[in-house]
Amino acid sequence: MERIAIVGAGTAGLHLGLKLLSHGVPVTIYTEQEPSRLRVSRLLNTVAHHAPTRMRERILGVDHWSGPNADMFYIGIHVNGGPHPFSLRGRLDSPTIFVDYRQYQPRLAEDFVARGGKLEVLPVDLDVLERLAQQHALMVVATGRNGLTRLFPRVPALSPHTQPPRMLFAALLKGVRMQEPIGMNANLIPGQGEIFESQVVTADGRVPSVLIEALPGSELSRLSTQRYDEDPRAFEAMLMNFLRRFAPTTYERVDSASFGVRGPMDYLQGSFTPTVRQGWAPLSNGRFALAVGDTHVTNDPVAGQGANAGSASAFALAEHIVTALADNRPFDEVFCREAEAGSWAATAPATHWTNTLLQPPPPHVIDLLAAGSKDARVADAIATAFVTPELILSACASPENSAAFIARHRPMVREAAPPPSPLAWHPPPEEPKVTVSLTR
Ligand SMILES: Cc1cc2nc3c(=O)[nH]c(=O)nc-3n(C[C@H](O)[C@H](O)[C@H](O)COP(=O)(O)OP(=O)(O)OC[C@H]3O[C@@H](n4cnc5c(N)ncnc54)[C@H](O)[C@@H]3O)c2cc1C
Repeated sequence: MERIAIVGAGTAGLHLGLKLLSHGVPVTIYTEQEPSRLRVSRLLNTVAHHAPTRMRERILGVDHWSGPNADMFYIGIHVNGGPHPFSLRGRLDSPTIFVDYRQYQPRLAEDFVARGGKLEVLPVDLDVLERLAQQHALMVVATGRNGLTRLFPRVPALSPHTQPPRMLFAALLKGVRMQEPIGMNANLIPGQGEIFESQVVTADGRVPSVLIEALPGSELSRLSTQRYDEDPRAFEAMLMNFLRRFAPTTYERVDSASFGVRGPMDYLQGSFTPTVRQGWAPLSNGRFALAVGDTHVTNDPVAGQGANAGSASAFALAEHIVTALADNRPFDEVFCREAEAGSWAATAPATHWTNTLLQPPPPHVIDLLAAGSKDARVADAIATAFVTPELILSACASPENSAAFIARHRPMVREAAPPPSPLAWHPPPEEPKVTVSLTR
């Protein structure tokens, strides 16, 4: 019987399972549905995997999608919608990739089984979890933000949000000419939120995508609260109009005659509250359950970090488990506390960066971005930092840090930083009128 059981075959559960298998540790994954069913499901998200996650994928031997038609090197950041719009475009040190999770997760589940992992289709509730804990030395819960989260209490000191900070709409699109070379655009819109345009590798190749992160109560939030399926054509006209106003770099590549959501399953709408939970819980038989991925830490998607953090913590957790097995240590409360600390250390920068990005930027961060709009070397450094939480947190931590970041990447230039933008960033949001779970 396998000593380690993982509940959930999402990215966190699969990266953990594959990593344990690579150390020769037998693992069973229990998951609520046959992974291949995801291939015909609704869009789950629009996930960017950045350099550290891609390195882990190479270590796991699951880097199936890399290549010149998938690797994304460019990020455009546009401060739009105010009196002084400006843009910067930077090149990443190593490429990011967006793969449709409806392809990614079933493929990794196949890899897991092909390498000797056991995968059982079984929806797990708390009773079933208790029963499974009789058969395994350690249960790891990786059921995402909706699954068995109630087992793991919220940690208020690390969870500043009590309601969704953004209302979401994400879709694969048609009628948008894709940027070449492959790039994404982040539009930061004071008072409205953010619009991200990127390109996702799907079963049919690379397609354009959009993620709307709307402040509750803003005009943009209608893309989340007004149901797409009630009147798709009117909805698409509204989306196109928002792109025209707030994402002009994307809008200039829109063909209005063919623009729209790519297919009836290619969108999602909703919202959720980012939460950090305790990473472990005692079970009634004296054994323990650990949480990993979104079950432990749910981040808002604004910084594109949730899955990357889940993968990082899966690797940290695998290391703890392998070491404990080698030392013949029990999976007791002390082990769980240490494992939780290791997981949190691997994911905390992503959470801090996400929570920072959800706030209006202070003037020195506007100065940093403005410096990038004037100097390609600074823009490149900002682009790489933007997807690397430790780097960007340090660059944005204080006016002195931002100035030092600029000086480091533009060492010969001695001009004064541009004046802070007079933009009032996000006015206090109204309470959201609708709070729904993401359509799954
Ligand atoms: C619109 C959007 C955009 C995003 N963009 C990014 C991005 O750019 N970069 C990024 O890193 N992250 C992004 N994220 C976040 C990312 O999608 C999540 O952080 C990540 O998918 C979480 O992985 P997970 O393995 O923890 O959970 P999940 O991927 O949700 O997997 C959970 C698994 O558990 C199974 N399960 C659930 N309940 C049970 C049960 N009771 N019994 C058995 N099995 C169960 C599910 O079927 C599934 O297999 C985005 C999210 C959204 C919504």
